[in-house]
Amino acid sequence: MLVVKGLHKQFGHVDVLKGIDLEVEKGKVVVIIGPSGSGKTTLLRCLNALEIPTKGVITIDNHELNFANQVSKKDLIRFRRLTGMVFQSYNLFPHMTALENVMEGPVTVKQVPKEEARRKAEELLVKVGLGEQMHLYPFQLSGGQQQRVGIARALAMEPKVMLFDEPTSALDPELVGEVLKVMKDLANEGMTMVVVTHEMRFAREVADEVIFIDQGRIIERGHPNQIFTNPMHERTKQFLQLIQ
Ligand code: ADP
Repeated sequence: MLVVKGLHKQFGHVDVLKGIDLEVEKGKVVVIIGPSGSGKTTLLRCLNALEIPTKGVITIDNHELNFANQVSKKDLIRFRRLTGMVFQSYNLFPHMTALENVMEGPVTVKQVPKEEARRKAEELLVKVGLGEQMHLYPFQLSGGQQQRVGIARALAMEPKVMLFDEPTSALDPELVGEVLKVMKDLANEGMTMVVVTHEMRFAREVADEVIFIDQGRIIERGHPNQIFTNPMHERTKQFLQLIQ
């Protein structure tokens, strides 16, 4: 479903990603862990073409973009629609209700008729447990509820792959579980997911593969049981000791 080959990203003269190779099969969940500043967010943003890689090839559902070549705006926009992104900071439109937030993308970007978009958005909000709150505005919702709207909004665009960038790290601890549960349900339904998170329990329970990144390189990858109980690399061991 997702194949990344030789992905590099430079900011000015700084190499932030130094040749990332990644494959995610359809329906699998890959969790990316690593120290702050190691390039996790940049990698996700490259997968969504929010950042343009310096070079590398990304293929999603047989749509390939080779960033060694000039990529047209049209190709970028088409490519961006293949993934749905959930951000740490929700990024909801404050002047729209939960329902309007979820309808907005399909109506304005995909020209889906309003009634159809509304029906679909209602369905998605029920699915993330917000059937009762769909007419409330972001400021009337808790952080966990806002993040669940964020997930529904990304799903409304019918992406092939969902990308999560530390979706629970801005939440009060008691609200983390409800967001992780929605993510777990999605994984169980067969959604292909790439998740950057510090929630190691989630990684243990849900990930098919855990990837440890440090200084822009993949240091180690494997099944969560192996990574968490028997990491091969010293840097992975040190990182896990610090966070667990
Ligand atoms: P992580 O998500 O692992 O904390 P990031 O991908 O956010 O790491 O950042 C990796 C490195 O890239 C950091 O050193 C950060 O300062 C740098 N970086 C990220 N975005 C930019 C940018 N837009 N311009 C310049 N440097 C950036």
